Amino acid sequence: MTATAPSAPIGSAGPGDADEADEQMPLAALFRELRSAPAGLAGREAARRLLVNGPNELTRQHARRWPRELLAQFTQPLAVLLALAAVLAWVGGTPALSLAVIAVILLNAGFAFVQEMQAEHAVEALAAFLPATATVMRDGQPCKIPARELVPGDVLMVTEGDRISADARILDGVVQLDMSALTGESLPATRSAGSDNPTGPLLEATDLVFSGTSCASGQATVLVTRTGMKTELGRIAILSQAGIAERSPLERQVRRATMIIAVVAVGVGALFLPAGLAAGLGWTASVSFSIGLIVANVPEGLLPTITLALAVGVRELARKGAVVKRLSAVETLGSTTVICTDKTGTLTENRMRVTQICLPGAEFDTTNTAAMAADRRVHLLAVSAALCTTAEAPTGGQAAGIGDPTELALLAFASARGFTVDPSTRKGNRRGIFPFESHAQMMTTIDAETDEIAVHTKGAPEAVLPNCTHQLESAATVGPLDDISRAALQTTLDRYTAKGLRVLAIARRPLGSGQSVPTDRKDAESGLTLIGLVAMVDPPRAGVADAVEQAHRAGIRIHVVTGDYGLTAAEIARQVGIGTHGRQIVSGAELDRLGDAQLDEMLSGQDEIVFARTSPEAKLRICEALQGQGEVVAMTGDGVNDAPALRHADIGVAMGRSGTDVAREAATMVLTDDNFATIVGAVNAGRRVFDNVRKFVLYIFAHAVPEVVPFLVFALSGGSVPLPLTVLQILAIDLGTETLPALALGREPAEPGLMSQPPRPSTTGVIDRALLIRAWGLLGLLSAILVMGGYFYTLVRAGWHPGDPTGAGAALHHAYRQATTVTFVGIVACQIGTAFAARTDHASLFSIGVFSNPLLLWGIAFELIFTAALVYVPVLQDIFGTAALSPGQLAIALPFPLIVWGADELVRLIRRGPARSG
Ligand code: ADP
Ligand code: MG
Repeated sequence: MTATAPSAPIGSAGPGDADEADEQMPLAALFRELRSAPAGLAGREAARRLLVNGPNELTRQHARRWPRELLAQFTQPLAVLLALAAVLAWVGGTPALSLAVIAVILLNAGFAFVQEMQAEHAVEALAAFLPATATVMRDGQPCKIPARELVPGDVLMVTEGDRISADARILDGVVQLDMSALTGESLPATRSAGSDNPTGPLLEATDLVFSGTSCASGQATVLVTRTGMKTELGRIAILSQAGIAERSPLERQVRRATMIIAVVAVGVGALFLPAGLAAGLGWTASVSFSIGLIVANVPEGLLPTITLALAVGVRELARKGAVVKRLSAVETLGSTTVICTDKTGTLTENRMRVTQICLPGAEFDTTNTAAMAADRRVHLLAVSAALCTTAEAPTGGQAAGIGDPTELALLAFASARGFTVDPSTRKGNRRGIFPFESHAQMMTTIDAETDEIAVHTKGAPEAVLPNCTHQLESAATVGPLDDISRAALQTTLDRYTAKGLRVLAIARRPLGSGQSVPTDRKDAESGLTLIGLVAMVDPPRAGVADAVEQAHRAGIRIHVVTGDYGLTAAEIARQVGIGTHGRQIVSGAELDRLGDAQLDEMLSGQDEIVFARTSPEAKLRICEALQGQGEVVAMTGDGVNDAPALRHADIGVAMGRSGTDVAREAATMVLTDDNFATIVGAVNAGRRVFDNVRKFVLYIFAHAVPEVVPFLVFALSGGSVPLPLTVLQILAIDLGTETLPALALGREPAEPGLMSQPPRPSTTGVIDRALLIRAWGLLGLLSAILVMGGYFYTLVRAGWHPGDPTGAGAALHHAYRQATTVTFVGIVACQIGTAFAARTDHASLFSIGVFSNPLLLWGIAFELIFTAALVYVPVLQDIFGTAALSPGQLAIALPFPLIVWGADELVRLIRRGPARSG
């Protein structure tokens, strides 16, 4: 997409129309036009404007999509296949069968449609978990509001990593804007106050920002001119085209498997058509027989059931604090082998408190207020640290302040020393700012104080100390920062960081009266005077240690990738149990020196690694190296520069609270609570969902054998054995009795031991050989033997001999109908056994409790009622070719569930081996 000028002439809005301002008129006029002021709108005025202008949202154009989606169900390959079968049945002279197959198609389409809609709603509802926010001035105070409540005239604050949610004019500041969503241009564009090109295309104006873009770096205050559909983004309405559902690997796999099975079914059906004819069946019987084979084998309801299972997983994850953006993430999560996590806020609480300070030649515990009060330098330290901030301490009723927790800790420290920062005074006195940047690892401001203007710098000691030439020896004397002092500082630093403290160096440089304010970062941050070091605690979160242990048991390795100092990060890692079996610390500089081969070797070992002082590029490199070794990587991140690594990782994890909008957009999963434990919980859920999909695939596949074998027996006997199961009975099983138990299996709780197994290799499909052997070779074959036994037993008891006529009117006809009914009831009984067997993959049913899935019990109750109706209701008897069974005949099927389940239980017991049974 290229930049386009707006089609409407600029300034076409009528006077006083607050929502259609010409954004390029002089600022004063623009303020007048929008009836706003640099201090922003009053809260009540904003509320009124929200009513008039409507919420700041893009309205969707595709509300009426469902007819098309419903229609799409009928053009699915499987539906087409069944339609062919219906035509064939009609032509073959069995209109009843044809109608039945058509009913199947309709039912199936409706069912699939409802399930897919439900899945879609579940995903759409996720948006509510991740509301976009914006920081605006309301009633003269900055406050965070939902972005949908922005109105024209709002004064909006934009900082690095923010997504901009309205069109606006820059009042002050400079930002690098990522405009790729609007222009397709991926290089950031610089935008700042003061236009030099008021007549050019709107998107190229240097003082305008637009909804849908994001701030790659810098800070600005902007005046909102347009919201909602009136923005440039609204005009282009990109979003209305978005949202093409992408199929997950799981769905693709199952789709392929179903297609293969369908093709095989059709092939077999076609092959047996001549076989049936040769066996002396009429054309009609042969056709219905072929159709029976096809219908028995095509797993109709599988795909939508899987989609729904994934969607249910997604919804559940969201409730637990992990919002994933696509269904497929659920299954990728389940195969995660490595988690790369940052430290601050994820492993720790991100609630910092200054506990220790170190000045040249002196050291204080912050509980010792008397000692600190005696040294004037403590006050200077507090002032410099507090001025060099953009965060805002909580006032009055607020529970938490706004901004970086590190800065909030410094503000709280200063405030306890009697120096409270008022944000507007701080801003008024500010002469320049070089914001915190993850590469520089420090931040600098230039502020006017009572009698002088001074540069204030704070940041990582390794970054700040090299720029310091002097140190504050007493409140009034400045001495050179010599090597001996540097060594002493390093010793203190090591001592602090070994305790897991986060350490910042604070430095200052007064500008002489004649000196101009430096505009270059390098100039500003040189020749500094070190005031001292500040150390703060950020305790590990509760629950993280448990989550780490759980991840370890699940065969998942955890590396810490942090911007913080090595020893600090290593200590936190130790406290939460990361690296209990071997831990290495690699600093950013060391990492840069490592060759790819060495990095590979380090990562392929058993050690868990603390990557300290890493740059965002290093994150990407670590991620690539791990993926190169076949690992499935979950990687956390929060900053703008983390976006490439988040996109590249198999699961990019962004922080919902502390992260930037840019990171949230790049991520696959957003943690609404920023908690590491939530990642492990999500992996757990991913594994469970995948397992449950396997459970109902197993269950649905298992019935194919007892459904096909009767047809084979019939064909291979050349018709001397009458057909033991009718096509309509098959349909009754596939689409009636089985549906609810299959759905219930999708809701199984996690199997015990799920998180003590190594991760599933990402190459294993959901349908693998082990599953097929268990479904067809064990459960299916056993069921087939049982039901055929029941069938023959019933026939023979009635005095049947091979070849005897059983058709309508024959003496044995009633006995034949009872025998097919025994087959039908037998399959249902076997599938009940299969359902209980399918509940676990390796554990014993007793370890999870026989009655612990109430949904399944309800499903089986429904199954039994449905079956009873087919067997005993006269009308249904005629349709499905059944006959009422005597108690003795019913008793044949009674042990079937126990036998099928028992056999599987035995196999699982043997597979677990004597040591792990139980
Ligand atoms: P992390 O969040 O992984 O701990 P960051 O990249 O946020 O790491 O920070 C890296 C280092 O930069 C910190 O250890 C600290 O020394 C320094 N730092 C962090 N925040 C600020 C800030 N607001 N101002 C100055 N320096 C900071
Ligand atoms: Mg940080």
